[in-house]
Amino acid sequence: MEEKEKQTETEELVEKLVYKKKNIYESADGEEIKKIYDFAEGYMKFLDNSKTEREACEYSIKLAREAGFKEFKFGDKLKVGDKRYFVNRNKSVVVFSIGKNNLEKYGVKLLGAHIDSPRLDFKPNPVYEDSGFCFLKTHYYGGIKKYQWTTIPLAIHGTVVLGDGKVINVKVGEDESDPVFYINDLLPHLGQEQMRNSGNNIITGEQLNVVVGGLPYVDKKAKDKIKLNFLSILNKKYGITEADFMSAELCVVPAYKAREVGFDRAFISAYGHDDKSCSYPALQAVLNAKSSDTVIAMLVDKEEIGSEGVTGMKSRVYEDLLNEICDAFGARSHIVRAKSRCLSADVTSCFDPNFTSVYEKTNASIISCGTTINKYTGAGGKSGASDASAEFVGEIRKIFTDNNIMWQAGELGKVDVGGGGTIAKYVADLNIDTVDIGVPVISMHSPYELISKADLYSTYKAFSAFVK
Ligand code: MN
Ligand code: MN
Repeated sequence: MEEKEKQTETEELVEKLVYKKKNIYESADGEEIKKIYDFAEGYMKFLDNSKTEREACEYSIKLAREAGFKEFKFGDKLKVGDKRYFVNRNKSVVVFSIGKNNLEKYGVKLLGAHIDSPRLDFKPNPVYEDSGFCFLKTHYYGGIKKYQWTTIPLAIHGTVVLGDGKVINVKVGEDESDPVFYINDLLPHLGQEQMRNSGNNIITGEQLNVVVGGLPYVDKKAKDKIKLNFLSILNKKYGITEADFMSAELCVVPAYKAREVGFDRAFISAYGHDDKSCSYPALQAVLNAKSSDTVIAMLVDKEEIGSEGVTGMKSRVYEDLLNEICDAFGARSHIVRAKSRCLSADVTSCFDPNFTSVYEKTNASIISCGTTINKYTGAGGKSGASDASAEFVGEIRKIFTDNNIMWQAGELGKVDVGGGGTIAKYVADLNIDTVDIGVPVISMHSPYELISKADLYSTYKAFSAFVK
């Protein structure tokens, strides 16, 4: 055989047998790049309007209504072709459209993502004055590196229920003309002992106190004048008193807006990519779906603290809603669930060339190589994992191949290094085949995370193909 012929034969064999990840930007033409960048624009708007689960819920409802979806409440009638959204306590929302296909035969197609993100919440009695400052004490929510939350501009978002039951919404720090808030850190000159601490104790939970004021109330005889002045500003602006913090959900979030990153703008930095980079594509996929199946996007709360409570994935409310849909068409819920499929839409860790030691590169998600399927999550020996079956992953894989979706398969990091979980196992508990899939994220759970626009769009295309 001629040497050249042999070479071509080998190339063909490699092409046929060897799996190779591809960078989406490398293979995309100008038209595809434009689609990727256009989708990112809508996403960045979503991010800036969705820093808390309440805001994400409200903004998702707005988008759903614009797409012609109408509110559904328990007890409402349903018919084929209905496009509806169900709101759970203003903190989670389920958007669905009823297809003509028989529910018991085809099941439903679910996309499940979460809209809460790691942050700082205020304690029930947060206000105190010390040495010229008025501070608010916080209690962090979700897994954070505490030191990352110092010396950055912070905003306060949330809801306060006053003594008379009146509900006040607060959002300060986002407008250019707004003040921001701040958490102190130690100067390096005096930080020698601090820097000898393990990272977890460089800043402690009790040091995450937010500066909210410094101007004293004008009355020489008053005690805690700065605190009093802060309370009087709050009272004038919102009618809030100190006791109202006890019935409030006020969150401290980074005051950053989503921005494009790089001269070529290939990436997006933002607070809350986990998990808005999956909830937005999931929402859009269902809003735009023209499926014969019943398709559902569940945007849930409390994933970051274990999916607990009435708004988390463990709540019965999501099963109840599914039961209502089944009842409306005389379908038996347990048979529908057995036939149903779910993509647990959550982010995964992205291989970071600056921190190679925690990754096993062959099984890490590489930036811009597409949405990642995590067949299983968990920690150590797959502890706490929801491990999707080969059959189900095979089914999803075929959908992606048929629809030209670029995707990758991965794990969070090295086997012995750590791990994590998502809502997948709680959906799987309902006897619904579920697999994790989502956008690879750099600096996950930090105040300013980074993703690739290509991976975001790949996720949207994957979800759209699934609910087609
Ligand atoms: Mn997540
Ligand atoms: Mn998370």
